[in-house]
Amino acid sequence: MKAIYDYNLTELTEAFLSLNEKKFRAMQVFDWLYVKFAKDFNEMTNLNKDLQAKLQESFVIDFLKVKKKQVSKDGTTKYLFELMDGHLIETVLMRMEYGNSVCVTSQVGCNMGCSFCASGLLKKQRNLTSGEMVAQIMHVQFDLLEERERVSHVVVMGTGEPFDNYEEVTKFIQTINEPKGLAIGARHITVSTCGLCDKIEAYGDLGLQANLAISLHAPNDEIRNQLMPINKKYPMDTLRQSIKRYSEKTNRRITFEYILLKDVNDSLVCARQLAHYVKGLNAYVNLIPYNSVDEHGYQSASKETIEAFYNELARLKVRATIRREHGADIDGACGQLRAKFQR
Ligand code: SAH
Repeated sequence: MKAIYDYNLTELTEAFLSLNEKKFRAMQVFDWLYVKFAKDFNEMTNLNKDLQAKLQESFVIDFLKVKKKQVSKDGTTKYLFELMDGHLIETVLMRMEYGNSVCVTSQVGCNMGCSFCASGLLKKQRNLTSGEMVAQIMHVQFDLLEERERVSHVVVMGTGEPFDNYEEVTKFIQTINEPKGLAIGARHITVSTCGLCDKIEAYGDLGLQANLAISLHAPNDEIRNQLMPINKKYPMDTLRQSIKRYSEKTNRRITFEYILLKDVNDSLVCARQLAHYVKGLNAYVNLIPYNSVDEHGYQSASKETIEAFYNELARLKVRATIRREHGADIDGACGQLRAKFQR
């Protein structure tokens, strides 16, 4: 049984030809899936019964099993899904002023080993396929249909390092961006990486218009080495050069994500070093309150410290925002729900 969400339009067309079906049938099915949001082949009324049965035998549509669903006071909804092979993943729907944003998981577990993050509590078991990422969006979309709402934004910021699963993640972006399908605008799609430099540059070469966010979280190598092992492979200077090349190729502004951890990276000296690092880059900084993870010892910086940090950046003419928390009451941080469920 194959997951039909794993097929982009070209691949679906090829699959139909090899099933001895006409090309236009693939287009019809694609339309049923992504424009009419069919969950079952027997809803596809312009296909004859034989073809419906044939498709039923070859493909599954929505294969995600909901193990748990938590809804926060602010409407943030966190899903714990079971994949076909039994692995568990998390997906989050965030209701923003500008639309409905879905945070997608890209790997089962993660090998990047950031010391503050709940995702890495489970080492990478495997990459997700493009179809397993598409299915996360579709499942949330099915729920939103009841409110006549659409998924308008996608962030690849769930568990996993997207650039450690580069091929499937880029295929996923292309699939949900497909104008004849979901047609989620590239500018509404954001990929977040801990800083795999070779892939940052490759991503720039692809010519997608999707956004790029970099998890920086430190103003210098000394602190970043402690927080993020990837910094030993790609130190901040190397990262900066890759970002520069990315920006020159794409003309796009990047986002630096910076979690403020009490007494670790939240001093005004840190703010000044960060400002120095960002200067000359087409970038802005997103300051993020830390979501405590039981297994790690870190605490979030206080509201006052975050504001002081922000003001120092502003004084140094660095564009920055403070991220509003979503779903703090429902194990909002990636990997938290999964970790709790398994305990
Ligand atoms: N591997 C990718 C994407 C997944 S993590 C990356 O590193 O960017 C998505 C974002 O959430 C990253 O910026 C990550 O550092 C941040 N994050 C992880 N744990 C967090 C926590 N407990 N509180 C707040 N942000 C967290």
